[in-house]
Amino acid sequence: MTEVTRIKLSLSNAYILRGRKTILLDSGSPREGVKILRALARMGIEPKDFSLILHTHAHFDHAGSTLELKRWINVPTAVHAADAAMLARGRTNLLTATRPEGGLIKLLLGNKTFSGFKADFVIQDDMSLKDFGVDGKIIFTPGHTAGSLSVLLNDGQAIIGDLLMGGSLGGNLFAARPNYHYFAESMDDVRASIKKLMGFKPKRLYVGHGGPLTPEAVIERFSRDIQFQRR
Ligand SMILES: [Zn+2]
Ligand SMILES: [Zn+2]
Repeated sequence: MTEVTRIKLSLSNAYILRGRKTILLDSGSPREGVKILRALARMGIEPKDFSLILHTHAHFDHAGSTLELKRWINVPTAVHAADAAMLARGRTNLLTATRPEGGLIKLLLGNKTFSGFKADFVIQDDMSLKDFGVDGKIIFTPGHTAGSLSVLLNDGQAIIGDLLMGGSLGGNLFAARPNYHYFAESMDDVRASIKKLMGFKPKRLYVGHGGPLTPEAVIERFSRDIQFQRR
């Protein structure tokens, strides 16, 4: 059993995955390291408990405080190969809006920068997290960015980054209602990745903004766009 804890930050969620060892999944926007450290202190987690800082993708609101945190949590950082250059640059790729609301938000978020860094290792494909002390695996779920990934735990919990989002207004309204994210590098890949993810029959979906989501709500919301396997 892996304990999943959401740390709600200014724009996004970061997650603590606690098994035999602890993984930090995403680090929020720049200058949120202290908030994360405070949450860890409340949970009684120490820097030495960590095995990895993993990124669902290399946007500024998910990798923004990693360098800052590395001063306390000195463990390897990882990102998918297809997002490694964006992470090193520390600049979010020009965003393509998936719906009109996105155009507006792009004005606020487009081209945001953060302290870029070279990941200690890059992930090429689906891989187990067993060696990092967590019973689960990384699955490649591109679309929002070319290198977006999700974590699927053996107990059915899934943390999927910005593959989907919960609700509107950055997840502050109707947080449990599944939506496409405002931006995607490839909508075809987003749909294929949602289908791939749902093929694993996850029980609960944690997202980068808002959430969590139930699989039933996801299937109901997207069954017109995506041919889901029968459950
Ligand atoms: Zn994103
Ligand atoms: Zn995000």
